[in-house]
Amino acid sequence: MSKLKDSFGRQIEYVRLAVTDRCNLRCQYCMPAHGIDIVPRKELLTFKEMYRLIRVLTELGVNKVRLTGGEPFVRKDFVSFLEMLSYNDLLDTINITTNGALISRHINKIEKLKKVKNINLSIDSLQQDKFAKITRRDVFPEVYKTFELLEKSSLNLKLNVVVQSGFNTDEIVDFVRLTKDKNVVVRFIEEMPFNGKGQRKMEKNWTLNKILEEVKTVFHVDEIQSEKSSTSRNYKVKNHLGTFGIIPAFTRTICNDCNRIRITSTGTFKNCLFDDGVFNLRDFIRNGASNEDLKELFLSLVKDKPENGFIAEANRKKGTVSESMSTIGG
Ligand code: SAM
Ligand code: SF4
Repeated sequence: MSKLKDSFGRQIEYVRLAVTDRCNLRCQYCMPAHGIDIVPRKELLTFKEMYRLIRVLTELGVNKVRLTGGEPFVRKDFVSFLEMLSYNDLLDTINITTNGALISRHINKIEKLKKVKNINLSIDSLQQDKFAKITRRDVFPEVYKTFELLEKSSLNLKLNVVVQSGFNTDEIVDFVRLTKDKNVVVRFIEEMPFNGKGQRKMEKNWTLNKILEEVKTVFHVDEIQSEKSSTSRNYKVKNHLGTFGIIPAFTRTICNDCNRIRITSTGTFKNCLFDDGVFNLRDFIRNGASNEDLKELFLSLVKDKPENGFIAEANRKKGTVSESMSTIGG
């Protein structure tokens, strides 16, 4: 069986799939207050189409999928889709990124799906007022409840914290403190200055080094070994139960070992977060492409995977990145 390999010899094993572009929150770094222009429903991939695309990719060596969005739990029957995907015997791992505001009642059911292993919960502040300012919705108690339920569940939990200058940088140390008694991984994400209405002005860029310096003002920190294709550099404070990591989303120092591709909610194939989107899979399958056609297409598309995010951005025809991560599938 041919495997998906790019021209730099990187084996593609992980696909990020946005199951919707819709969201119940309006995080200021992700979209404007009035939201983004969502696409008509018929332009979204159906769950059947998603299942088929993932199946074909797994026949080419992909073994992990991350479901994201928009907010995945906004899409009707998302939990049934998780069950459906679990039937794919070639898939090892299903991961989910969620804002946590709609999931508490589903946790028991999700825990029973053995392929669903890791949940990334986005939580940018531990203070209700600040959380409401950042997300423009007053849902902190529900998200915190989700956090507590997930922490007690058998699912592996990572907290995603976008570090926003002037908003939550004073809480970096509080988040690391959480790892003392809780078996969680906190991941600080460098903010990317685009949110669906163009390039956003940022006061200061909180880069990996700056975030790490801030943690070191209070804690002694050791770097820990990361998986080769990890999106983060990872650290531990001695005697803390959990760990923390930093995702250099903006400074892009982790591209070398990238093993990921992306599919947006409208079926656009992306080799890199920063590229334009290189092929419309939805129209290809709606026009009758067979699974063999799809395989051939995937094998050729990944050959154009750019070496890193800077090259991907430089190759864009649509100018600098400005789309919301909700459209791209964060
Ligand atoms: N709605 C879900 C959530 O918020 O977890 C999933 C989709 S969201 C687009 C995926 C991740 O992208 C979240 O952790 C979010 O914080 C992150 N994200 C969105 N916009 C970003 C930006 N401009 N810079 C850095 N991270 C961003
Ligand atoms: Fe929605 Fe996630 Fe974007 Fe926040 S980061 S607006 S929760 S898609």
